[in-house]
Amino acid sequence: MSAEIHDVIIVGTGPAGLGAAYELVEARPSLKILMVDKGSICSGGLRNDCKQNYTFPIGFAENYWSKGEAEELLEKVENHLQPKILPTSHLETYQQRAARIGVEIVAVRQAHVGTDQSKKLIHRLLARLEELGVVIRLRTEVSDISETDRDAAIVIDGKEIRGRKLIVAPGRKGFSFLQEIMEKMGITYVDNIVDVGVRLETQQERYPIVADYYDPKIYFPDNVRTFCTNSGHARVIREKYQDFYLINGHALSRQQAGNNLVNVALLKTIHLKDPVRSGQQMAVYLGRLANEIGGGKPLMQRVGDFRMGKRSKEETFNRDLYDFPPTCRVTAGDLGLAVPARIMRHLWTAMKKLDSIVPGILHPSTIMYYPEIKMYANKPVFRDDYCRVTRHLYMIGDGAGTSRGITGA
Ligand SMILES: Cc1cc2nc3c(=O)[nH]c(=O)nc-3n(C[C@H](O)[C@H](O)[C@H](O)COP(=O)(O)OP(=O)(O)OC[C@H]3O[C@@H](n4cnc5c(N)ncnc54)[C@H](O)[C@@H]3O)c2cc1C
Repeated sequence: MSAEIHDVIIVGTGPAGLGAAYELVEARPSLKILMVDKGSICSGGLRNDCKQNYTFPIGFAENYWSKGEAEELLEKVENHLQPKILPTSHLETYQQRAARIGVEIVAVRQAHVGTDQSKKLIHRLLARLEELGVVIRLRTEVSDISETDRDAAIVIDGKEIRGRKLIVAPGRKGFSFLQEIMEKMGITYVDNIVDVGVRLETQQERYPIVADYYDPKIYFPDNVRTFCTNSGHARVIREKYQDFYLINGHALSRQQAGNNLVNVALLKTIHLKDPVRSGQQMAVYLGRLANEIGGGKPLMQRVGDFRMGKRSKEETFNRDLYDFPPTCRVTAGDLGLAVPARIMRHLWTAMKKLDSIVPGILHPSTIMYYPEIKMYANKPVFRDDYCRVTRHLYMIGDGAGTSRGITGA
């Protein structure tokens, strides 16, 4: 009996894997393609919140893509995802206010699906691929990868499945999987960037810009920027990473009743230089420290307490003292103990600037959650423009550092 062999195997059904599959099957319908994912549905942002940005460079790793290339690809992405682009208003007024204090607001074409609706979109994308002849195996984890002169192979439950070409797109949660493969196969990589920040949660009336611009992209001095703003029915969540929790946020679609809250991350990008080389290691140390101080959970502090230099307490989070309860009950405490001083100073300066552009965000009730940390990939050294890392192996998407958002992936 001959061994199972495919023309192309794609690991990961996130946007990077889906994009690769569509591109290949549309260019050459006869290709025998197998897609594998360990989840029952892809687990990244396409499933969670699903905000789509259609303006370069949002979501792209700028060192890999030119504006022209990105725009050509974004047109294809738009054809597949069929977004409903959200309107913006009063942008110039905000932009002028921002420019006066050295801040830039970038106008971005955006769409938002919402966590409650995203499954339908994913099922539609997968069903279409199956109609085109792609074989999709979900709930199937790839434990290893190998390569010969002729082809490559994935290992599932101890059994090898061979492919003439292998595309690996395991996303951010697949960092360590990719790292192990790169080390085993002698592929050189760098990992020298990390984003560290807080997520702010406040009443929508204190951050009204979201009515004019769904996810405002605001760039402050010191490499600080806003990221992933959620409104409508918005919630802050904690996500498990290794043995600790990080903070994130999402929103339900507009079909759901609103809770009048907004959450937005403020992130500082840190470029590490010798001798500190690993952004992921730094993220792990910072994340563990915050969770240690929080008794196994992330931290939250009201802006009012932070300004007065005192820790928040459990009772600071009731409606009597302030006007809304947190959507993510983590440990009330003092961010100053957990966030490195320079990072905190730059975030606080950005918050003050943000308050002059959109007055209200520094209301004493605003909650600062920490740690929101975005790890970048272990970026492999690519052999060509198609993200090839060895003879038959390709690495793409957020896990390989070629993207930073759904549309870019
Ligand atoms: C909670 C959350 C919310 C986000 N919200 C947004 C948003 O609103 N807008 C936006 O633009 N970006 C968002 N992002 C970022 C976005 O998810 C990524 O930029 C994008 O999904 C990257 O695509 P990808 O295909 O590289 O990886 P992913 O989408 O992460 O897909 C990787 C897939 O590979 C699978 N996989 C991993 N390892 C294995 C293995 N060993 N075997 C088999 N399968 C494996 C995973 O199960 C996963 O389904 C969010 C990310 C998270 C975590």
